[in-house]
Amino acid sequence: MNALIVYAHPDPHSFNAMRDVAVDALTEAGNSVQVSDLYAMHFKAVLDEHDFKERQNPDFFNPIIEQHHAATTDTFAEDIKREIEKVQWADLIIFQFPLWWLSFPAILKGWFDRVFVNGVAANFATYEPLLTGKRVMLAFTTGGGAAAYSAHGPIGDINELLAYVTRGIFRTAGLNVIPPLIAFGASSISSEQRHELLHRYRRQLLAL
Ligand SMILES: Cc1cc2nc3c(=O)[nH]c(=O)nc-3n(C[C@H](O)[C@H](O)[C@H](O)COP(=O)(O)OP(=O)(O)OC[C@H]3O[C@@H](n4cnc5c(N)ncnc54)[C@H](O)[C@@H]3O)c2cc1C
Repeated sequence: MNALIVYAHPDPHSFNAMRDVAVDALTEAGNSVQVSDLYAMHFKAVLDEHDFKERQNPDFFNPIIEQHHAATTDTFAEDIKREIEKVQWADLIIFQFPLWWLSFPAILKGWFDRVFVNGVAANFATYEPLLTGKRVMLAFTTGGGAAAYSAHGPIGDINELLAYVTRGIFRTAGLNVIPPLIAFGASSISSEQRHELLHRYRRQLLAL
């Protein structure tokens, strides 16, 4: 199996460096692994006209039309092209990030805007999914504890919060969603709890 880990944390030594646990476990199980470390790559987070080497319509910038054109003519900017090649290579994609304002860090949102594009992730006109058969998993840390994200907690059920990603993005692309690894309260849990979490993550990945 080929696995791609898309890593979006500014500090390589944060608890999100649990991506190293994933790299080790997946490699140990005989898989090939690539990591896109978005901050280390200085990945451009903003979709704009520079994403396209040529334009279908130079007078009016419609990203959906230009993405489809670039997908059919192979004219995406090189950084996008490299990420699309990794996505197409991967059987499993893991997104590793801290929860910021109940969502991804902007650099990862930008990765979706620029890489999960019309004509690559799905056909945005027909809703035909284009990444069918691949698996995807979220692995993320939160500041709030698990109770805050329960059905009756102040923020609400984490699964409902995730639905816009799991249904809105992943299933639109045809990806099979694996249960997430969520490190609730990553900064406030004990060191033993963090180590147990890393062991659980390792077991979860080896079981794949
Ligand atoms: C802009 C912004 C918005 C935010 N919005 C939200 C929000 O909406 N909801 C919410 O819940 N939280 C929110 N937060 C908090 C954020 O989710 C947490 O700060 C983050 O998830 C903590 O993860 P981390 O990897 O950065 O932790 P770190 O602070 O890097 O690490 C936590 C602890 O783990 C230890 N550690 C590191 N590596 C290892 C290891 N290998 N083994 C064992 N221990 C280790 C560290 O020493 C540290 O004590 C927000 C934060 C920001 C900056």
